[in-house]
Amino acid sequence: MSVQARIDALMDLVKSRSPHEPEFHQAVHEVAGSVAHLVEDNPAYADARILERLVEPDRVVIFRVTWMRDDESIAINRGYRVQFNGAIGPYKGGLRFHPSVTLSVLKFLGFEQIFKNSLTGLPMGGGKGGSDFNPKGRSDAEVMRFCQSFMIELHRHIGPDTDVPAGDIGVGAREVGYLFGQYRRLANAWTGTMTGKGIAFGGSRIRTEATGYGSVYFAQNMLHHISEELAGKTCTVSGSGNVALYTIEKALAFGAKVVTASDSGGFIHDPEGFDAEKLAYLKNLKEVERGRISEYAKKFKGATFTKDQRPWSVPCDVAFPSATQNEIGLEDAKGLAKNGCRLVCEGANMPSTAEAIDVFHDGGILFAPGKAANAGGVTVSGLEMMQNAGFMSWTHDAVEQRLAEIMRDIHATCVQHGQEEKRVNYLKGANVGAFLRVAEAMLAQGAV
Ligand code: NDP
Repeated sequence: MSVQARIDALMDLVKSRSPHEPEFHQAVHEVAGSVAHLVEDNPAYADARILERLVEPDRVVIFRVTWMRDDESIAINRGYRVQFNGAIGPYKGGLRFHPSVTLSVLKFLGFEQIFKNSLTGLPMGGGKGGSDFNPKGRSDAEVMRFCQSFMIELHRHIGPDTDVPAGDIGVGAREVGYLFGQYRRLANAWTGTMTGKGIAFGGSRIRTEATGYGSVYFAQNMLHHISEELAGKTCTVSGSGNVALYTIEKALAFGAKVVTASDSGGFIHDPEGFDAEKLAYLKNLKEVERGRISEYAKKFKGATFTKDQRPWSVPCDVAFPSATQNEIGLEDAKGLAKNGCRLVCEGANMPSTAEAIDVFHDGGILFAPGKAANAGGVTVSGLEMMQNAGFMSWTHDAVEQRLAEIMRDIHATCVQHGQEEKRVNYLKGANVGAFLRVAEAMLAQGAV
């Protein structure tokens, strides 16, 4: 069978078994394009049907979440947990609370998580979960009741050696706290079954910062590889949530100039760049007041707000898409290329469409896929699990040093497997490096 025929056959299988799941198809197609040749070259992978098994989740749990609003009316949402592949460790991956959550979105995220977790070198399988619940505009009491109801069902399926959820879009420190509290009560045991916990109750230092910091470490590794530095480069960032804010923080620490941030209402452009004071304002606006990004442009002279747009028309050297999936389409990618962007580092999961990635590769733009560049979050989650298992709490510096080392190792894996004639294909490198570890584990464990 040719490599292309193998990819086509896999996509036919996925589309026939899981129709109407476009995000999941997109994620599988992207991985298959990088790894199908490995199966072609290694009959043991083909005989064991590694690819066909990888695209079928170990288990999917779907459940009703009933909860009461403050006005005592009853609300009903749908909850999910996709336990995708447990070959190299307990399922590990975040929970997303957002109205756009569907099984397709969670299967794409869970599938990506298999490879991301493999790249970290830590013992973690891939999983993802969440709900179509929208925490925006809900009172703290409503969010707590929702989280408690969600956990009443989820707790049967998770545990420190089984499945360890964390946060994602719409699930931050507040939600993780409520979810963990309910889990602990139901399990009658204090275990590290959730990560992203508060420092006071078993959380790891640097977990809040980890994804954004890790993304910037990764970009810095890419630049060092071509004998350049982030210092002095103009960066655009999308989003203003957990990943975006700490990407901005670390980029500033490395001497970059960061000029944009966004939310679902539009983006702000500050040509002078953010500084410590402006970042503190942004953090308070988004993390404490849960306000809208447009407020920034009213507060700081020279800054503008563009409604309903993403920041990719703003000239930059480095772009950090850090909001959500498919936020860089074909035209956005062409705009980035035209304006001189040289590196795209994905803080979010799958923010670039397949067409956009082609533009980056064709235009010689260095491209870091999310599964490598944003693996810092799950890395520190893995370190949180280790600390919890040993009833220990490591220092800020110890955790950050480990994070920096693991991001450097992930970069090295991408280079090892993605080196092409003139440059490194990070997408291929990440997919191949991650796949080999999982495939070997599956092969060794037999037909399960
Ligand atoms: P947050 O909920 O903290 O922030 C999300 C940000 O993206 C907000 O600014 C939000 O705007 C914006 N956003 C969300 N959906 C959309 C949309 N459809 N269109 C435009 N803007 C949108 O999430 P995180 O920062 O945690 O996650 C961001 C991305 O990073 C996601 O892809 C996530 O999967 C990925 N990621 C997160 C990790 C983590 O540790 N948190 C780890 C690895 C990946 P608004 O406030 O208006 O909704």
